[in-house]
Amino acid sequence: MAKYDYDLFVIGAGSGGVRAARLTAITGAKVAVAEEHRVGGTCVIRGCVPKKFMVYASEVSHQLKTAKGFGWTIPEATFDWRTFREAKDVEIARLSGIYVANLTKAGAELVHARAVLKDAHTVEIVGKDMTVTADKILIATGGRPTVPQDVPGIEHVITSEEAFQLDELPESILVVGGGYIAVEFAGIFAGLGVKTTLLYRGPNILRGFDDDVRTHLTREMERRGIRVVLGCQHEKIEKTDKGMVSTLNNGLSFTTDQVMFATGREPYVKGLGLENAGVELTESGAIKVDKYSKTNVDNIWAVGDVTDRIALTPVAIREGAAFAETEFRNNPTTFDHEMVATAVFSQPEIGTVGMTEHDARVAFGEVDVYRAVFRPMKVTFYHGEEQTLMKVLVNPADQKVVGVHVVGPDAGEMIQMAAIAVKMGVTKQQWDSTCAVHPTAAEELVTMKEKYVPPNLGTAA
Ligand code: FAD
Repeated sequence: MAKYDYDLFVIGAGSGGVRAARLTAITGAKVAVAEEHRVGGTCVIRGCVPKKFMVYASEVSHQLKTAKGFGWTIPEATFDWRTFREAKDVEIARLSGIYVANLTKAGAELVHARAVLKDAHTVEIVGKDMTVTADKILIATGGRPTVPQDVPGIEHVITSEEAFQLDELPESILVVGGGYIAVEFAGIFAGLGVKTTLLYRGPNILRGFDDDVRTHLTREMERRGIRVVLGCQHEKIEKTDKGMVSTLNNGLSFTTDQVMFATGREPYVKGLGLENAGVELTESGAIKVDKYSKTNVDNIWAVGDVTDRIALTPVAIREGAAFAETEFRNNPTTFDHEMVATAVFSQPEIGTVGMTEHDARVAFGEVDVYRAVFRPMKVTFYHGEEQTLMKVLVNPADQKVVGVHVVGPDAGEMIQMAAIAVKMGVTKQQWDSTCAVHPTAAEELVTMKEKYVPPNLGTAA
């Protein structure tokens, strides 16, 4: 008789957990995966996917505005939030169903309940009066939004979780935060016709991104009617008959229909029973793992946002896959967290891979910058003002491309392709030998021959 009920028990059926469970189950191992909410996790249910649908809906208003320049006459268009929300929810349910089907097809058992560790091999299935045992346990419980607890009235605000399920679209909103979720939602709301203000306590949005990208996006967001307020934060929030009154620490006050906080996420470990199994956390409260995603406990692993390495869906998936490959296919595999490309679905979009100019200067002392700021041909045709930014960073010592940053339409699509070359260690000469695709905006990336000299450095002797 087997020593344990399962070879593998996965806690959390999100991006990382589902991939690991599925790949393990198809090896013939006995696998169960517990999910307390809906299969698919943050990405499918309340993250990347519904967010992208909202971006698509929101972008239509810009397309309608620019259509006139191409000869179209369009009667005044209106947007119905409830119709969109219903269609979005149907599609999300379909996708979640696919995840369930794939798990079941692979032979994994799905447990619709919360799971809590009782010890290193025992899991309690909450609400079902049941415990099960497993040889190996994988924790893939993701993250949760956090809001500052010291702001009076914080209970009145929404986070990204609620933003997907609003009953009505507000007429005005204050989006608080400077990270990618904040700028994405500011763009979404503004595009849907909501009077939008983005408030961030720091000096510039998108900390950690290239400085040119940060400044460029701020300008473009303002061009699209978003008010960006930097360098201040909430003292209190009051719910009044006129709306939500936000009082800031610089004396400013805003009244908006809705306040959304997108001020950070934390690993979801609360109540998981980690102490029962002796699983260690990092100082920031994430599960501490090695390069194989193994915790300090010999039979427990953790992948995805709960480990706070790079909180992105494809990363969680790769970590989950590497775990399954290592532990159930006898093929030790790690995921390389270097040069992970990413997109921000702001409007306009950002695509980025590799180092920022600042980081490259710190690392190499010098960096060759190739940079273009231009109005793409589509924009010039309708006499628009929007500008695209492209930046390629090269290490002067070996001429390797160490960073590529794009802000403009389809930047996410572009960066996926550029990332292949950058990850392979492409040199600027090889990059330039690639023939342009014409007429595209992306061709600018391979036609930047002159090094960029910032205006304040000048050329004067
Ligand atoms: P999750 O997908 O969060 O899954 C964890 C699952 O575990 C959840 O379903 C949860 O209900 C379940 N769970 C937790 N505790 C228990 C328990 N005790 N018992 C049973 N079940 C439990 N990433 C991108 O790459 N691109 C994007 O565009 C993008 N956009 C995003 C937009 C938003 C608004 C948010 C919030 C995130 C976005 N992300 C994006 C990040 C991405 O969603 C996460 O990195 C990814 O989902 C992490 O996967 P995971 O497997 O670690 O956890």
